[in-house]
Amino acid sequence: MPTSLPKTFPEQFQKLIDNIKSYNANYAADTPLLWKAYTFSREAHKDQYRQSGEPYFQHLYHTALTLTELNMDTPTVCAGLLHDILEDTNISKELLINEFSPQIVRFVNGVTKIGGIKFQSEQQEQAQNFRKMLLSVADDIRVIIIKFADRLHNMRTLDALPEKKRRRIALETRDVYAPLAHRLGMYRLKMEMEDLALKHLEPEVYAELNKKIIAQRKRTQKDIDDFIRLINQYLREENIEARVFGRIKNYYSIYNKMLRQNRPLEEIFDILAIRIIVNSITHCYSVLGIVHQKFTPITERFRDFIATPKSNGYQSVHTTVIGPKGIPIEIQIRTDEMDRTAEVGIAAHWKYKETGKNDDLDKHIKWLRDLIDILKNDTRDDEEFLNTLKIDLFNDEIFVFTPKGDLIKLPVNATALDFAFAVHTEVGYRCIGAKVNGKIVSLNSRLSSGDRIEIITSNDHNVSYNWLRYVTTNRAKHRVRKWLQRHEFEQSIKLGEEMLEKEMRKARLSSKIKDVKKHYADFGYDTVNLFYQAIGKGELTVSHIVSKLYRKEEPKKPEVPEPQVRQYRSTNGISVSGYENMMVQLAKCCNPIPGDKIIGYITRGRGITVHRHDCPNIPNLEEEKDRFIDVKWHVKAGRTFVTRIKIIGEDRSSLIYDVSQIIHDQHTNMLSINFSVEGKLARGQVAVMVESLRHAERLIRKLKRVPGVLTIDRT
Ligand code: MN
Repeated sequence: MPTSLPKTFPEQFQKLIDNIKSYNANYAADTPLLWKAYTFSREAHKDQYRQSGEPYFQHLYHTALTLTELNMDTPTVCAGLLHDILEDTNISKELLINEFSPQIVRFVNGVTKIGGIKFQSEQQEQAQNFRKMLLSVADDIRVIIIKFADRLHNMRTLDALPEKKRRRIALETRDVYAPLAHRLGMYRLKMEMEDLALKHLEPEVYAELNKKIIAQRKRTQKDIDDFIRLINQYLREENIEARVFGRIKNYYSIYNKMLRQNRPLEEIFDILAIRIIVNSITHCYSVLGIVHQKFTPITERFRDFIATPKSNGYQSVHTTVIGPKGIPIEIQIRTDEMDRTAEVGIAAHWKYKETGKNDDLDKHIKWLRDLIDILKNDTRDDEEFLNTLKIDLFNDEIFVFTPKGDLIKLPVNATALDFAFAVHTEVGYRCIGAKVNGKIVSLNSRLSSGDRIEIITSNDHNVSYNWLRYVTTNRAKHRVRKWLQRHEFEQSIKLGEEMLEKEMRKARLSSKIKDVKKHYADFGYDTVNLFYQAIGKGELTVSHIVSKLYRKEEPKKPEVPEPQVRQYRSTNGISVSGYENMMVQLAKCCNPIPGDKIIGYITRGRGITVHRHDCPNIPNLEEEKDRFIDVKWHVKAGRTFVTRIKIIGEDRSSLIYDVSQIIHDQHTNMLSINFSVEGKLARGQVAVMVESLRHAERLIRKLKRVPGVLTIDRT
């Protein structure tokens, strides 16, 4: 059903078209579709009113208007007009499909889905919802831009809502929407959201701030005007055309600065930034030169985001100079195009191409795509997810370099190991150390902007559980976890096969070892490896297998040894809850030492084996609950325990000597020391006798300082 266009449009609609005209030459061809969406939505919502009493359609109109201010394409603006239609009216999805393109319906559907997500105060819930929200936009980032415009209008009209609801929406905006807008480079939107959130969350603070900023502005207005006049004059002398103006930074960032530095507003000088907009990048640097020549720059505040743009596309040169009255003034220099990008973010890269593929845009939201990829096949618990996500969302970036001078962007606090994974996954797995600006550092040392990093690798993979504490980026965490999972699987297969053979021999069924492996399907496993894995993890016991296949009798429950009949004393530094004389041995796989968290496992006929609580060789806890027993350290003074320390270092003649010297100096008994050389690396293991975890940790700390030592850890 074609919609006929009226001779004159309502004023509001005309404004929409005027905005689109400014960035889309095809606006005339799109007008009938926009008019259709406009009238369709107005009709569908005609009997609805907002809390404030204004017609509901005003919300849809203003959402669409914001989208035109962000220079969005026509399907997105239409979807903005229609975004609440599925949820709030009786228009069905089928009806919408008849009237509008599949793309528009998909956008509306996407926004409706996000709308259904309530961000709970409970951290776990919030993480889950955040995950859902990001996944829902995986197909098209425009869905979330519509949601931003929707949220902005809701924030602007928040006054009509009851206090509790107002708080919830303001918090969600501050903690979820604004950081995401920041990462998408949508600074204007982000700043308005933050300021509105502050206004509703801290009304008194906001009012006070507002009053003071206006007063301060009045007081300094003349100085600022003089400063701008001066700059204009200098630029004219050099024949550089430029727009120079001052703008107050957003309230939320000023407020944060006051909190962070614990200072009153009167002592925060840079509430105002001067912006200089020029025609070309060359002019940006000419202006910078002039400014630095005429005023004293504060060098540590200089940032060149033109040479190294932020990953959300932001470009600008920032410098702070001492102004005429001794007051520091921040100056931002950029081109018109950069200014537009800084205001509207990724939307500025929206090209009106038919292909639908936008490389430029893709480049700027690569981090988001990476994040979504990770989310899609991720099994982490929600709280941990939220924490890593927060790091990715909130943190600013540092810029570091490969030995060849290639630039790599990482979040603040990223470590050498993060860098290794950013270069290549294999480089990460093989990483044993790094040289930062020529100096050897450990894997977990933090990097700073400008660092030049060379990763030192070995032929083998060196991943360990500790690495999860060493890395901060999502990418690296994900890779490490993946490796550990895969490795664990392989280990439990090996363990399962060994256990099966050993137990079969014990049960005098050696002749059946070959046969038993063929029966994996009888126990419901698809492959023999899965069968071994189940045994290795303790999900399937060998006695069950034996009785089912060869003995046709009930499997025996493991017996808890009777305390009195054992003649062994509870030595070995362990006391067992409820028993006085138990045979206790410390597991050889993990060598627990006093201070380690431990757990006892009742073996058949060999008493209790004590493992470190995180030892990978402990059978599955759930399946064999009754074979675990509480144990505690009960150590007489002077008693020592074996622990093994793994060392990787640069191969040099006196490494072994230095290591043994330190061990000796620490009054520690050494049982063995073994080093092997592989290329430029030496790999070694030392077995020492220590009194406690503290003793071991102290020793490791000392050994870490031996020149050339790259990684060192207990095994
Ligand atoms: Mn809405």
